[in-house]
Amino acid sequence: MDKLIPLSVPNLKGNELKYVTDAIETEWVSAGGAYIDRYETEFADYLNVETAVACQSGTAGLHLALILSGVEKDHEVIVPTLTFIAAVNPVKYLQAYPIFMDCDDSLCMDMGKLKEFCQAECDFIDNELINKSTGKHIKAVVVVHVFGNMADMPAVMDIAEKYNLKVIEDATEALGTYYLEGRYKGKFAGTIADIGVYSFNGNKIITTGGGGMMVSSDTDIMKRAKYLSTQAKDDAVDFIHNEVGYNYRMTNLQAALGVAQLEQLEHFISIKKENYSIYKSSINDEINGLRMLGFRDDIRPNYWFYSVYIVNTEKYSRKKIIESLANDHIQSRPIWGLIHEQKPYLHAQTYKIEKAFDYYNRVVNIPCSSNLSADEVNKVIEKISVIS
Ligand SMILES: *Cc1c(COP(=O)(O)O)cnc(C)c1O
Repeated sequence: MDKLIPLSVPNLKGNELKYVTDAIETEWVSAGGAYIDRYETEFADYLNVETAVACQSGTAGLHLALILSGVEKDHEVIVPTLTFIAAVNPVKYLQAYPIFMDCDDSLCMDMGKLKEFCQAECDFIDNELINKSTGKHIKAVVVVHVFGNMADMPAVMDIAEKYNLKVIEDATEALGTYYLEGRYKGKFAGTIADIGVYSFNGNKIITTGGGGMMVSSDTDIMKRAKYLSTQAKDDAVDFIHNEVGYNYRMTNLQAALGVAQLEQLEHFISIKKENYSIYKSSINDEINGLRMLGFRDDIRPNYWFYSVYIVNTEKYSRKKIIESLANDHIQSRPIWGLIHEQKPYLHAQTYKIEKAFDYYNRVVNIPCSSNLSADEVNKVIEKISVIS
């Protein structure tokens, strides 16, 4: 039987074992230890930011990012519908309400529609954006850099400034993506808005098993991020806590993995780039009614996830592609179910969602691990090309 070609799995052949062994031998495995500081420092250096705060997961980081942005009960937060649900659930943790936006052809939030929504559906009173249909205060926008692409950051930052909105970058899929030109030339995904959040879940470009990181150019926000993620301890000796905190720390074991993974990040990106270009040169509409979705021209993407787009829907369905590849021991998956159609969000407000349905029906993600060989890529292409 052929070996399974998985969708996206960890690549742990660097210093992972060495650093984790060191953490164990020195008996620092929990919430203290040198690897946590080291990971935070090296992560911040990579991104050219002052500080980074490690946390328990991307979801935990997004939860704290909303709190640090001042989101409270009964506020509203604008979110994408085409994303992983963890980008949206933290809004609910705070008893705030999501408003769902459409995507554009980058799969990220459609900033044209965002602007139109703020103009047409809201009032701007006393420096607050008020949703006309609910009377509620819209406090923030969560922007997701889908699959390692970049959302249109100049557009969202302009809108946010005009309407006094906080912007949270969900950069959980886009570590390493940065602008090559324009207003944010050289800036990494996650470092442009008020707060950026990264994830080190097992399927992400680098992994710590589970874990996350928060960055902000505002050092007070970073101090509060650390404080809230470590039980809001005001006096460690007398156990004084002046706020409700969280146990959202990263462990030293996870950080040891993270340090080793970060050493290889640029190498992983170069492999992903190469494999992506092999796919792209073979899977295009003239030949087989399928094509690879691209990334923005003005960025260096991290090429995290590869998306096949079904051009010819008479010939293909996503189900047919996924099942047929599975028969050949190749893992693939559909894009996420739209969040506004999930049970907890059926009553949430939506705004002109159109494109997200199309991409939902037509996108299939194919193997993209950083340890995927060129032979395996060619096998995937060959199997895709004979689906009829
Ligand atoms: C992975 C992911 C998250 C959540 O990260 P975890 O570390 O798994 O909690 C959030 N948003 C998006 C878009 C993701 O892909």
